[in-house]
Amino acid sequence: MELKSKAPDGPIETRWERHRFNLKLVNPANKRKYTILVVGSGLAGGSAAASLGELGYNVKCFCFQDSPRRAHSIAAQGGINAAKNYHNDGDSIYRLFYDTVKGGDFRARESNVYRLAQISVDIIDQCVAQGVPFAREYSGYLDNRSFGGAQVSRTFYARGQTGQQLLLGAYQALERQVGNGQVTMFPRTEMLDLIMVDGRARGIVVRDLITGRVSSHFGDAVVLGTGGYGNVFYLSTNAKGSNTTAIWRAYKRGALFGNPCFTQIHPTCIPVSGEYQSKLTLMSESLRNDGRVWVPKQTGDRRDPGSIPEGERDYYLERRYPSFGNLVPRDVASRNAKAVCDEGRGVGESGLAVYLDFRDAIKRLGDHTIKERYGNLFDMYERITGEDPYRVPMRIYPAIHYTMGGLWVDYNLMSTIPGLYVIGEANFSDHGANRLGASALMQGLADGYFVLPNTIGDYLASNKFESLDPSHPAVRDAEAGVANQVKRLLSTKGTRSVDSYHRELGKIMWDHCGMARTAEGLKQALRVIPELREKFWSDVKVLGNGEELNQSLEKAGRLADFFELAELMCLDALDRNESCGGHFREEYQTAEGEAQRDDDHYAYVSAWEFKGAGNAPALHKEPLAFEYVHPAQRSYK
Ligand SMILES: Cc1cc2nc3c(=O)[nH]c(=O)nc-3n(C[C@H](O)[C@H](O)[C@H](O)COP(=O)(O)OP(=O)(O)OC[C@H]3O[C@@H](n4cnc5c(N)ncnc54)[C@H](O)[C@@H]3O)c2cc1C
Repeated sequence: MELKSKAPDGPIETRWERHRFNLKLVNPANKRKYTILVVGSGLAGGSAAASLGELGYNVKCFCFQDSPRRAHSIAAQGGINAAKNYHNDGDSIYRLFYDTVKGGDFRARESNVYRLAQISVDIIDQCVAQGVPFAREYSGYLDNRSFGGAQVSRTFYARGQTGQQLLLGAYQALERQVGNGQVTMFPRTEMLDLIMVDGRARGIVVRDLITGRVSSHFGDAVVLGTGGYGNVFYLSTNAKGSNTTAIWRAYKRGALFGNPCFTQIHPTCIPVSGEYQSKLTLMSESLRNDGRVWVPKQTGDRRDPGSIPEGERDYYLERRYPSFGNLVPRDVASRNAKAVCDEGRGVGESGLAVYLDFRDAIKRLGDHTIKERYGNLFDMYERITGEDPYRVPMRIYPAIHYTMGGLWVDYNLMSTIPGLYVIGEANFSDHGANRLGASALMQGLADGYFVLPNTIGDYLASNKFESLDPSHPAVRDAEAGVANQVKRLLSTKGTRSVDSYHRELGKIMWDHCGMARTAEGLKQALRVIPELREKFWSDVKVLGNGEELNQSLEKAGRLADFFELAELMCLDALDRNESCGGHFREEYQTAEGEAQRDDDHYAYVSAWEFKGAGNAPALHKEPLAFEYVHPAQRSYK
């Protein structure tokens, strides 16, 4: 299979403009003849459904929560990037493009990244017009702050609740279309299969999570904005419901999966405190603007932080990376935290934590300013740990946070299945091997508000769509497959809970496909994951029945997909004999412990094709060319 990225050529500044001009348009009077199914109503899906409705398409939008307002996007704390250069500190579209390509360790498509940087400025205008209450300076201008991997201040924020405020903006736009009758919303409805007719995506099979009823919806195109799959690791900062099911089932119908092993590990999370834990909590990266990261210089120094004198502290990020200091990108900060803990200099009971200290910032700015900037994050930290971060340094440790991998899409955001579009965290993304902070919201909203509404029309205008008969064999087959899986999960009646299997899978993934990976560890994971999966299918105990709200059943179905995805992630990580961004293969590092890329052999996007149950997937490669930002060893020194 030849992967056609459809990325335009010519001067990068005009690529999107020229491409957009060449796309076919759907005449306004014809838009109402098309139905588009949008799965997901987080920032990506919600903004897409609202924009498509505004354009005049008929939209059906689905989510598994009881309201679009509960999508995982609501958790986003720190902010959203845009190259507005309000601080007059040297920012530009080109600099945001440059930082993102470099930050992603040269594993992203240049054309997409440039478009993202261009659109970033429009997103802020759109959201302000919706009434999103971004923080403002005294003068009334929008305020912004710095995030990792950048030396300029370009992150717009609404305290530590940026995702929530942006989601409320998208939700209002969506509800306006619901009110107008352009969008029909289906909450508590889970997509469990993709319906393909004549090689094109024409519908989805869903299960009503309240009644258990399985049914189908048909449309002329399907859009997946179903979020990331970090929960394959069990413990992550993601919402508990985030899962891979929609994209995984589309993969099994023929959509290629891009870079599945590219996972982001966020350096500033509250450390794991015990076996009972089911979730990890993020402390936003914005805290590294004012907080200083350190550990004791001495191995095994167990004194409380207040009694460790200045000279006996190692501010290791400031020491190793003087120009970026505490604002190095996430992959670099995470690896360094692991390294100092591996040396025995970690703090807290487990020794798996480092300090994030606000003492100096509080001395300089006062409690009041720190409270204004980060008040809700400090409160959250205190509620969880019982310690007051205004007085005692926070303890933080890296945790799984975001997945750069996802379904492969071309420049139009279409997967390898005609008519199937993938947006937001669910696609393989513009972030390469490491996403810079505050750029997921930017990408999700760029996809939903600005890119997809332009590109989808080209597909609709270029194809003819017969109406679908619900008794079509493709529909019957897909519905039967879904019903059978539900039946099988409920009838196994084994001995172990879904969560116990999930926890075990997560541990395997964290140990072998987490922050550090080796060929030997990955091979070991590839041996044990199928064994555990077999055990799961013969021994899982799913409580309740299929005719009522049943979270045990929901989780079991999602875990079944995580098991299969986990194997693909390990396979992908094993194939990539290099280190880049969040993919750190211990065998490939520089003398200073930094990621060692191999551009001669691995400057490509891995795109995996499902070849049937029990068969090895096939690897396809999309070569990456860098005409503007030339690959070099990333340096933040
Ligand atoms: C704690 C935390 C803080 C973060 N902070 C920031 C930040 O400050 N800045 C930043 O840029 N990024 C941040 N991120 C990342 C960012 O929040 C996410 O990448 C982004 O919100 C994902 O948006 P999305 O619309 O793609 O997916 P989601 O918000 O995950 O939405 C997924 C949607 O799909 C639906 N769905 C999923 N599967 C199905 C299915 N099978 N059937 C039906 N519906 C389905 C869900 O119901 C939901 O509506 C943060 C992430 C976390 C975990």
